[in-house]
Formats: sequence, C-alpha cells, structure tokens
Amino acid sequence: LAKHSPKTTAKAKHTATVLEEGLVVATYGHSWRVALKDELVTCSLRRDAEKAMTKPVTGDNVVVARMSGQFTVVETRPRRTVLTRADPHLSTERAIAANADLAVIVVSVVAPPLRPRLIDRCLVAAYRGRLEPAVCVNKVDLLDDHALETELAVLQPYRKLGIPVLACSTHTGFGLDALLRLLRGKTSVLLGHSGVGKSSLLNALNPSVQQRVGAVRGADGKGRHTTTVSTLLQLGPNTRVIDTPGFREFGLGDVTACELQQYYPEFAPYAGQCAFGNCTHIGEPGCQVKAGVRQGAIPRLRYESYRKLLCGADTGEATQQRHTHADSCSDSSFECAHCGAHVVPEGAGTRHRNHCPHCLWSVHLDRRPGDRASYCEGQMEPIAIWIRHGGEWAVIHRCSECGTLASNRIAADDNELLLLSLAVKPLAMPPFPLSRAGLALPGVHQ
Ligand code: GDP
Ligand code: ZN
Repeated sequence: LAKHSPKTTAKAKHTATVLEEGLVVATYGHSWRVALKDELVTCSLRRDAEKAMTKPVTGDNVVVARMSGQFTVVETRPRRTVLTRADPHLSTERAIAANADLAVIVVSVVAPPLRPRLIDRCLVAAYRGRLEPAVCVNKVDLLDDHALETELAVLQPYRKLGIPVLACSTHTGFGLDALLRLLRGKTSVLLGHSGVGKSSLLNALNPSVQQRVGAVRGADGKGRHTTTVSTLLQLGPNTRVIDTPGFREFGLGDVTACELQQYYPEFAPYAGQCAFGNCTHIGEPGCQVKAGVRQGAIPRLRYESYRKLLCGADTGEATQQRHTHADSCSDSSFECAHCGAHVVPEGAGTRHRNHCPHCLWSVHLDRRPGDRASYCEGQMEPIAIWIRHGGEWAVIHRCSECGTLASNRIAADDNELLLLSLAVKPLAMPPFPLSRAGLALPGVHQ
C-alpha cells in the first residue's frame, strides 16, 4: 500500500498516514460512508485526486487514508460490475452502485402500475454493467388472482429469457421467502420507480434495517439527503443489498443498435436473416425481426421498447400521449413504396406526412398517427375520401396486406386531381341512374 501514501511534506512528516481497505456503504453528495475493518467512518475525496480517480459509489472497494483523525478516499479499486444511469437532463452518465451481482428491478402493480418498458431500460443498464437481472413485482395484494395472472402474463417474455420474475407483497408477506432466497449470498442492487415499495421490502426482509438506515444517515446529520443517498445494507453474512434512490426516469445514455441487440436475445434467430447484415430493425426493407413481431414470435412490447430505446424518444416515464407524438425514428422524407417518388417533409403543411402526395398511396406503419407500431408495412391504397368533423378532407386508406382501414388527413401538396377523382369515384358507377335522382353530371356514365 506504500505507493498510495500521499507525498509527505516536511510539515506533515510527523503525522503518520495509515492506509486501509474499505467498502463504501453510503454515498452522499461529497462524502462517503466507508466500512473499514473495525469501524464506520465518513470520508472525503482527496481534492487533487478528484479528477484523476474514479469517484467512488456505494459498493466500491476503496483505499482510505487516515491522517490526523481525517479520512480520505485515495483510490477506488477496479470494479467487477457497475450500474450506471444517465441523467436525462444533463446527458452525463453516473455510476449508482458498484460490484453488485444482481440487479433486482422492483415494480408494482396498480400503484404505480406495471411499466414493462421501464423494466427493459433497467435490464439494459444491468446487462451493460455486467449484473444479472431479476424482476420483483410488489403489491400483488392489490389484485385478485385472476387480474394478477393477466398482469403477470406481460412479464412472460422475461421468464422466457431466463430472468427470475418474483411476485410479492410486503403487506401480506407473500413471496418474501423466495425473494430472500434469490438475494442470499449475493450483493444485490434494488432499482425501482419511487413508490413501488423498495423501502417496505427492505424493512420486511430485515426488520432491523430501518433502524440501521436511520442510524447511518443520522450519524452524518444527512437526514435531508435521506431520499438521495444509496446505501448498502447487510442482510446476512454474505448477503448485501444496495438500495438506490427511487427514480421517476431512468436514462440510459447513448446506445447503438449493435449494442442494444445484444440485450434482446429473442431477436437473434430473426436478425440473422434480415436482408441487410447491419439491419437496425427499424426501417429497413426485408427485416425479419419485424416479421417476427408481426407473426407474434417476438413480443411486441419488447420490440417497441427496443425501438424506443434506440430512437431515444422515451425516458422511461412515457405516457400514452408521448408514444404517439414522439417518434424520432420516423424521418419524414421517404421514397414512395408505390410510385417511387422521393417525398420530402416540406410542403405538406402538417407535422406528420402520412402518404405520398403524388400517388396518395401510403404504407401500413402506424396504429395511431406517427407511432410506427403496426409492423405490417403493407402498401395502403387510397380508396375514398371522407369529410371529418371539422370539414377537413381525409383519405381512407386500405392495407393491401391485412385489410386495415385508416383515415389520414390530406396534405397541402396532395395531388388534387387524384383527390377529386377519389371523391367522385362512386359516381362513376352509380347503382341507379343519376338522372333518376334528378342529377345530371356531364361526362358521368349513366
Ligand atoms: P419506495 O419509494 O419504493 O421506497 O416505496 P415505499 O416502501 O415507501 O412504499 C410506497 C407505498 O407503497 C407506501 O404507502 C407503502 O405502504 C406501499 N406499499 C409497499 N409495499 C406494499 C405492498 O406490498 N402492498 C401494498 N398494497 N402497498 C404497499
Ligand atoms: Zn432487421
């Protein structure tokens, strides 16, 4: 350890510096609670080291220098695993827990409701940091058996991937034994949206925890940070749990299609057969992953989360409204699949261009405007015009693959002659002579 000794100045020569190994058990803003061999101390970071060394987080093994009753972290030992999270507002990534074996993604049913896409974000973070993942569904007491079964069915894709999915309730005690068995002998980190019941779980797993959490936090007078620190708790001789602050969003930082696909192993059998070797499975023709989604072989929710993570239109807290308007992957310039025209966004007069202004054909992509969630991709024929409430003209499109009908607002630069011919098309084949109805249109066959 000698090499870690701070340079001794003539003045400091008489003050011996002792170096000790320690484990970070709590992280505050600028101080760290570290368990040394025999005591728990509060450390700062050597100022000149702050940039040069890895800033420690809970779970880190560190070297602590003790000098004149002051404790300073002078080294962060290499990490086995690290869980990081991007700050969605700052575009920086920061570590939240080090050296954990297992990331337990805690979700709840009803309050707050289950959000599978949040699970996917946490899963990616776990895989990236080399942690094994597990999902713990708390508050199952809030649903009856039947409703619970329906709710948990959404999580079946994770079970298929071999990820443990546990249901529990801190109120009834259901499932807590199984959770404890999962945690035993490991260091786990609990991740979850605020309010899912992480604190309640920890208290239920070890009734003395609450007291200890209070003690650790209280000793530093850091009470006001209670909700922002992450703390390591010893549940048994080899069982540790790192409790991270509950979040409202879970940012991931930049991720490439190539990396992201590794975390979606269910894509692999299909991805190999895509027309393009480097297919991102977003907009490429001949994509077999999307074909797999259409056929129901790849869970739709998983594909949707992949797409949202890749396209960055989602921070994990997305609501239905945000799904529909945020679609950064849909570049609104396109090559018309029907007539081949190159279509640019300008001139449409609306934010979202749905069909080709030249031939009026469309492609079956959306369930709701702009959501890109149909995966069918059949060509949609313009078959009729109808007038919406506001008097606005819309084209009715029918998918030539699946028959779905959709109505789409016309754009300012749509082919007017085609629009008109669509509008009057029924008049070309009237089921009765138009003259019978007292109408005579020039050039219309009777
Ligand atoms: P945290 O923010 O994840 O730490 O969540 P808390 O542990 O503070 O719990 C949030 C709320 O959920 C509290 O009102 C708890 O009483 C409640 N809660 C926790 N676990 C359960 C449970 O198993 N069932 C029900 N119905 N409520 C729970
Ligand atoms: Zn593909």
